[in-house]
Amino acid sequence: MTNASIKAEATKYLINTYGTARSLALVKGEGVYVWDADGKRYLDFLGGIAVNALGHCHPAVVRAITEQARTLIHCSNLYYIEPQVRLARLLVENSFADQCFFCNSGAEANEAAIKLARKWAKDHGHPERYVIVSMEQSFHGRTLAAITATGQSKYHKGFEPLPEGFRHVPYNDLEAARRALEAGDVCAVLVEPIQSEGGVNTPDRDYLRGLRALCDEFGALLILDEVQTGLGRLGRLWGYEVFQVEPDAITLAKALGGGVPIGALLAKASVAESFGPGTHASTFGGNPLASAAAYATLRTILDENLPEHAAAMGEYLQEAMLALRKEFDCILGVRGVGLLRGLEVSPEVDGNALAARCIENGLLTICTNNTILRFLPPLIIQPEHVDAAVEVVRRSLREVLG
Ligand SMILES: *Cc1c(COP(=O)(O)O)cnc(C)c1O
Repeated sequence: MTNASIKAEATKYLINTYGTARSLALVKGEGVYVWDADGKRYLDFLGGIAVNALGHCHPAVVRAITEQARTLIHCSNLYYIEPQVRLARLLVENSFADQCFFCNSGAEANEAAIKLARKWAKDHGHPERYVIVSMEQSFHGRTLAAITATGQSKYHKGFEPLPEGFRHVPYNDLEAARRALEAGDVCAVLVEPIQSEGGVNTPDRDYLRGLRALCDEFGALLILDEVQTGLGRLGRLWGYEVFQVEPDAITLAKALGGGVPIGALLAKASVAESFGPGTHASTFGGNPLASAAAYATLRTILDENLPEHAAAMGEYLQEAMLALRKEFDCILGVRGVGLLRGLEVSPEVDGNALAARCIENGLLTICTNNTILRFLPPLIIQPEHVDAAVEVVRRSLREVLG
């Protein structure tokens, strides 16, 4: 099939949640490259939205999936699952956490975190504390509780009434967070170390530490949504390390499974104990296949020191984009940390048209908030890939500016 014929069938048979602006069907990937159905190659600086941290079809992940598929694909959590236990141990030994719960996506991981926070407050004699404080411009996923936590009204529209017990405050504003906590009804603050979907918004160095202090003062949990920032993307294994803060819980998904769907909630034992038998579950969560893929992915990230590499490549990308800024007045700034980067163009430039032009020129990227070109490349990229990507952005900018 071709791009066009796949698109035609998709338009007919798929519910139209993703729109028809898309023109490509991707059929093959290797390392930092993907190929569309017409045989054209692209440099992938979107990485399946921060999922393909090891690039495409990394041999370690392919091997793990293949071996596990021959052995046991699924059995349910009615039984102990060896790959899941191995994965949990590796996560715990390399993080602040004592225990893990596995699910299938970022939204589900946040649902688990929200439920855990409410249960934890009740278990500690505070049934009146059930509010989740989250941030304006945040993104936490598309299930009902997750969109309610998400501080962007465009994701709420049409789905009211939304669940109760959520409050939004401006990001990077400790005074606003204090006022929200002073109400005395808050069980947790849920926050992304860097807001990616919301526009690559990076907080002040002491913001998360400030939230930590406020949570301690008012008896609330600090839960970090590391669905996108976790697993090396920010140049450290965890985003909380970048901001030198210790959370009570974090949520993961995206990069965790090397492309196989898996999400996780990691927590301190003192918090995790509020999830007793029967309180939460997932049929697929942490099944043998997904756990084996995730174990191989995390093992590779650790063994190959990819967070450090991501930090170096992130600096290189930042420098290259700052050089580009000198050439184009319409580039207003470069944002982000590690390999979560955004190039901000002035509102006169159609950011979506620019992203489309980059794709035509062989570079996968995405525009967020109409003016931020987002780059989430695989952590395995090399300087020559950055050079090639920046060259495509340069050419595409020239073309859209006419
Ligand atoms: C992508 C994302 C989610 C949602 O993950 P899904 O797997 O799509 O449910 C939640 N939080 C953040 C920060 C994300 O980037």
